[in-house]
This record gives sequence, C-alpha cells and structure tokens, in this order.
Amino acid sequence: MKITAVHSHVMEYDLPEELGYSQQYYAKRSCHLVEVQTDAGITGWGECFGPGPVARVNRAIVKGVIAPLIVGRSAFDREVIWHEVYNRLRDHGQKGMPIQALSGVDIALWDAAGKALGVPLTTLLGGRFRDTVPVYGYGMMLRRMDTPSLATSFAAEARQLEGQGFRALKMKVGHGPAADIALVDATRHALSDDTALMVDANHAYHVTDALKVGRALDRLGIGWFEEPVAPEDLNGYRELRAALSTPIAGGEAEFTRWGWRPLLEARALSIAQPEVCALGGISEFQRVLALAHSHFVPVINHVWGSPVALAVNLQLLAAMPPLPGGLYPAEPMLEYDTTHHLFRDELALEPLTIAADVAAGGRTGVPNRPGHGITPNPDVLAKYAVPR
Ligand code: CA
Repeated sequence: MKITAVHSHVMEYDLPEELGYSQQYYAKRSCHLVEVQTDAGITGWGECFGPGPVARVNRAIVKGVIAPLIVGRSAFDREVIWHEVYNRLRDHGQKGMPIQALSGVDIALWDAAGKALGVPLTTLLGGRFRDTVPVYGYGMMLRRMDTPSLATSFAAEARQLEGQGFRALKMKVGHGPAADIALVDATRHALSDDTALMVDANHAYHVTDALKVGRALDRLGIGWFEEPVAPEDLNGYRELRAALSTPIAGGEAEFTRWGWRPLLEARALSIAQPEVCALGGISEFQRVLALAHSHFVPVINHVWGSPVALAVNLQLLAAMPPLPGGLYPAEPMLEYDTTHHLFRDELALEPLTIAADVAAGGRTGVPNRPGHGITPNPDVLAKYAVPR
C-alpha cells in the first residue's frame, strides 16, 4: 500500500456569534483535514490542530515539506515516516506548527492501516478497555459583555447543557481574578451538586493571581483548574499543585515526548491533557500516554476540531489503560464542544451520535468501523473550502 498523494483541506465558516477565551475573541470556525491516498484505493484521513491562519500555514507545511518526503513510501511505515519527517523538521521546529502538520499526516496513516486491515484503531492499539466513554461538555465561552451579564448568561447556558444530559461541564474564564471568581461562582451555583464543573483559564494568569482564583475554586469544589499559568511556567504549575486542592490540568500546548518529559518530571500536572492532532499524532500520543502513566499522572485528552478528531480521540480513550487499575478505576472522558459547530454536525458521512448518547445517559459509544470510522462528506469539504 504505497502513498500516492497527500492533500490538505482547510475549511472555514462565519460563526453566528463571536466566541472567546482568555486570549482572543473569534468569529470564524475552521478545520484542517489531511487526506492520504494510496495505490490500494484506500484513503486515510487525519486532522491538524490549529485554527484560521495557523491552518493555512500548516497546510503549506503538509504540502510543501512533508508530502514530498512520503509520497511513494509504504503507508504502513508510519513509525519510520514519523521519525524521518521529525528528524528533517527538527532544526526548524521541535514544537508548534511543524508538529501539528505531522500530526495530521500520522493520523491519516493510522486510519489507512485500519482500513486496509478492516479493523478499528482500537484493534491496532491493542484492544478496548471500555466500549463507552463518559463525555464532558465545554461551553460557557467568553462574549463581549460585562461580567454580571456574562455570569447570567453562563448560568443559563450551564443549566441548558445540564438539561441536555451532561454530567460534567467546562467553562472559560478570562475577565481577571475577581471577575472570574464571580463567573465561576454563578455557574457553579446554577448546576446541581452532582454535575461536575471544570474551569479553563487558557493561561490567563501569573502564579499569584492563579493562586487567588484557585483558592476560590477550592471552596467551590471545581473539578479541575485548566492551564492556570503559561505553559512554560513549570515552577508556577508546581507551586499551584502544592498550594491548592483543586487538580491542576494542562499540556494541550505541549508537543512530543521530548516536550512532555520535563512537564511530567516537574510534577507540574495533576491531569495531563495531550492533544493528538497537535503533539505528533497517534504514534506520539501513545508514547506521551506511556510517559504520563509512567509518572502515574492520569490522562484526559484535549479535544478540538471536527468529527475526525472526535472519533480519533474516542478510539484512543477506549484503548487507554486504567491508571492504576482496580475494580472501579477512574476513567478518562471525551471533551466535547457544545458551541456552534457545522463541521461537528455536517462533515461525517456516518455521523457520531455523541449528543444523543449524552442525552441517554452521559456516555457515548466507540464506533467499530475500520480506522477511526469517519469519512468526510466531499460536498461539505467543497462547500466550506478555503481557497489555496
Ligand atoms: Ca483548554
């Protein structure tokens, strides 16, 4: 099964309303899929993390740098391909966009291998520890409004999501420490006690402000405090873990085993959140997972993007060993974007049933189709395509 062509598909549409997190407001939703064609007539699909302009540049890296290195190679040689591409890119970017670009290609090769063998990714990964995965919903994104209005809006949105069946939710903060505590307080009190609420700061704080917010999160019983400080601030992470009872989560902005190693060795995280579409694809995700588990740090994947990313993460979560194991082990969860998302809803020829599954009990099934099980609808790819 030789690779005959590698194509990138960047798609974009205007959101009906602007959404935000602590670093920016955004008005467009975008997505970058990688298509690897083979002479066996099998096509693998992958996805690269990175919105808008980042996706456009990642497309150029896939097309201009990675594709010429791998066309003509066996699509089964994904380990060899990964290391040769990484080695070629190493002098030009050991993190960030080159690795995001490689991630989409690697995922497409795994998908092609699963399709060639007629098995889902979980079979290639060694089997399933679970057939269904708990889902948590993220919403409560920032809007351009004052804090009291946003608190009212967050409370209503949280209640609505709880009504849709979510038993765990995640909200954004980013108005500054005092305002953020008010936002979390209003959202937490809008929910029943048995619905978990997590808080994502997208590295909005320095450690002093993060401690101030974190002490309030401790009082409010928050599930985890995500990216409280800059990803480079390993000492800050460690100080927060020592000072707070709320678990500290992070890692979505880290890449490869070499980036993850110091983060884990620093004991910076209570929960590791690797992003498979950014850190180096499925090949590298499995190594980062092993590294995290070797430090006894639980992994709850960061998930962002189209049904391809969702389906890949479902496969990874089903194949993830319990840590440390037992009759009733703690489980990972699938992160699920509850905001306006046409790609989530329209792209897959055989759609995922996550929203309906959540409504029926808070968990979702793991598809059994070959590969990750998602084939993009060519009409949808064309409809939202960003011109080259
Ligand atoms: Ca996050």
